Amino acid sequence: MGEAQVSLEHLFRVFTKPEHKDSKLAQIEQHLSDNILDFLSQHVVTKKTSLEEVEKDFANAKVPESPEFVSTHAETLLDKLVAHSVNTYSPTFIGHMTSALPYFHLPLSKLMVGLNQNLVKIETSKAFTPLERQVLGMLHNLVYDRSEAFYEQHLHSAQHALGAFCSGGTIANITALWVARNKLLGPQPGFAGVAKAGLAAAYRFHNINHLGVMCSKRGHYSLSKAVDALGLGREQLIALPAPQQTLDPEKALRAGKRYQEEGNKLLAIVGVGGTTETGHVDPLDELADVAEQLGCWFHVDAAWGGATLFSSQYRDRLKGIERADSVTIDAHKQMYVPMGAGMALFKDPENANAVRHHAQYILRAGSKDLGATTLEGSRNGMAMMVYSALHIFGRRGYELLIDRSIQKAKAFADMIDKHPDFELTTSPTLSLLTYRVCPQALQHTLKQVDDSTRDEINEKIDTLVVSVQKQQREAGKSFVSRTRLEAPDYPAKCITVFRVVLANPLTSHNDLAAILAEQHLLATSTPLWQSLSQLAAQDPA
Ligand SMILES: *Cc1c(COP(=O)(O)O)cnc(C)c1O
Repeated sequence: MGEAQVSLEHLFRVFTKPEHKDSKLAQIEQHLSDNILDFLSQHVVTKKTSLEEVEKDFANAKVPESPEFVSTHAETLLDKLVAHSVNTYSPTFIGHMTSALPYFHLPLSKLMVGLNQNLVKIETSKAFTPLERQVLGMLHNLVYDRSEAFYEQHLHSAQHALGAFCSGGTIANITALWVARNKLLGPQPGFAGVAKAGLAAAYRFHNINHLGVMCSKRGHYSLSKAVDALGLGREQLIALPAPQQTLDPEKALRAGKRYQEEGNKLLAIVGVGGTTETGHVDPLDELADVAEQLGCWFHVDAAWGGATLFSSQYRDRLKGIERADSVTIDAHKQMYVPMGAGMALFKDPENANAVRHHAQYILRAGSKDLGATTLEGSRNGMAMMVYSALHIFGRRGYELLIDRSIQKAKAFADMIDKHPDFELTTSPTLSLLTYRVCPQALQHTLKQVDDSTRDEINEKIDTLVVSVQKQQREAGKSFVSRTRLEAPDYPAKCITVFRVVLANPLTSHNDLAAILAEQHLLATSTPLWQSLSQLAAQDPA
């Protein structure tokens, strides 16, 4: 069924002829562009299918022998793939950084795929390369606010790059630290530089044991990938404890000095501009001072929080970001661009030259090919989506969205605070917050008991939180994520908390109230709730 002939004629048709208006694929296309919410609600049917069941649909490791008709295949996709996808547009899915997209991205993505430009070199991207450079310049301007003359000189300069466009925050962080590494261990008399000679030679030349990167424990796991990929080793990621959720500048200075005294070089301090787990912002201005004192690179990972710079009211929360040597921003998070749009920005446009590569057939010296300074090779025209979003929303449009998300997070925090059986763990700096469910009486008990009793009770509450989170997810109406943190009240040991990201502009106050009510019902229906309440009753105080 659905098998097509193996003929060149058939294949040519697949290349050149659009599907008939009544075909399945054309119908899907029409439905998507008419009303994507309706499409998702009809086709993404969160049936209680376990992952193992879904895997059975993707179990065959053999390449199909014969071609299939496009319409037959489209049908299969609807059944097997779309039906069991996650509805990221749902206003009650507030557990992740991936949310609904504005409509215009659908036709635009078709334009992007249709043109199929490759940004690695000008020869396959002509207008897209200047566009990408402009986008990098706009974001550079947002962070560093340099003069018009500065941008005139550097925006399209073959010898400079204001940043590197890439697929996401992970690659952006790796790129930034790659540049930092090649600068710190660069060529000098008697040494060809780490890029040429390698790390072992660099350590010998500089007479050091290790090269390290410092951040707080709330640093994103991509930093651990970065030190691994760059050859520094995961043990050289110095992640300091952060009971207040941020990197303490004094502790950072002390830890940095100690590291250097032990015969190591500190490559970089990474300040986070909106941690992934709680949305806290490290004290960037103070950390810039510390980096200066330690003589190392200062990188700010603002993958999530960078877009806060659009808001006049809240941009101060990232104060000091303009002092960073490099900054990571993800457009596919709070800029509502489809997945696959990250940027590493460099304060000094010369810095990208530390990783410049040339090849004979492309990326020739003096060319404006962006591929010369990016980690990735072939890349699509995602910058167009950022370019369009920047124009269609404008700074003031983004400002409105950012302000609303933060206000909504504050309102939800209030709701949690007022509810007797919920405890706010971290209040929102940006649009993230964490909390947990716990019988009111037990919250008082926890304040009075000794450390070991408290740890025991907290472990039971952890189990309750995990159980509620899983039940809620499985019920399929809403989704809140969970994580483990050192909390301000419980600095010594991690506790499990619900984590909420208020990114979706469509999430309403009522949605939030319903999510909390569902969690309360689930929690109070567990046997664990009864025993926890009894624990509080036994409390002698
Ligand atoms: C999301 C995120 C990253 C990773 O970005 P990807 O686009 O998922 O690769 C890095 N750092 C922070 C703070 C993030 O929020």
